[in-house]
Amino acid sequence: HMSEALEKTIGQLEEEVVAREEFVGAFAHELKTPLTSIIGYADMLRSRKLDEEKSFRSANYIYTEGKRLETMSLRLLDIMVTKKEGARLQKVSTETLFEYLRNMFLPREDMDFQFRYEEAVVTVDAGLIQTVLVNLIDNACKASEPGGTIEIRGRQEERGYRFIVKDYGIGIPGEELQKITKAFYMVDKSRARSRNGAGLGLALCTEILSLHDSVLEIESTQGKGTRISFVLQNRDKEAEHEEIDD
Ligand code: ATP
Ligand code: MG
Repeated sequence: HMSEALEKTIGQLEEEVVAREEFVGAFAHELKTPLTSIIGYADMLRSRKLDEEKSFRSANYIYTEGKRLETMSLRLLDIMVTKKEGARLQKVSTETLFEYLRNMFLPREDMDFQFRYEEAVVTVDAGLIQTVLVNLIDNACKASEPGGTIEIRGRQEERGYRFIVKDYGIGIPGEELQKITKAFYMVDKSRARSRNGAGLGLALCTEILSLHDSVLEIESTQGKGTRISFVLQNRDKEAEHEEIDD
């Protein structure tokens, strides 16, 4: 038993090391490319007299890429803080969560949001779960044509309360499904970048859900759309089980 347990721990540690190396590699890559061009454009601006259009384009590039790096570092910080601080679980009504989302996306008149949910009480860190849902809805919007329908659902199932975000957008190729939750991974980099993507949203969601003992469940058909959902287990039942076990 002992050696089995040891082997398992070693296996997990090895996986962690590989994951960390992959992460650092991806991070370095993500930093290097925009920095190289920012430095290149800045050097051009300071060393040459450029015509107005060229100098505007250079400054604009520095600005937008700088902004992107800013977003990226803020998101990385989010992930780190989440990991460190953990979740503060409280009982929250699903109405509170859905009303927050409704208000959040109200100004976005370019999309057709459809909210439908069953009222229930869930045990969550409300701020963190809102972050997850906002990220999923943001992705759904980015994958859809203007005016596209985004369905946001919540329903009680046997295992717990399921949140669903469904879109009718570009979809995700089957072979990419496993990868999209990895930090910095984007199926179509230029498309994602043009929409200000850093490839970190789903990595953050995964981190947050693991604090809630939950995972993202992703179903997608290329060209048809995507449905991403997760279940929050009924905590009360779990607590009862624990008592019985003791
Ligand atoms: P960020 O969330 O950091 O702003 P991002 O949206 O590109 O950037 P993720 O949210 O982690 O990053 O998503 C990773 C990739 O997964 C996206 O770039 C996109 O290719 C793909 N993806 C995620 N959600 C969907 C969806 N609903 N439909 C199609 N592709 C999606
Ligand atoms: Mg995203």
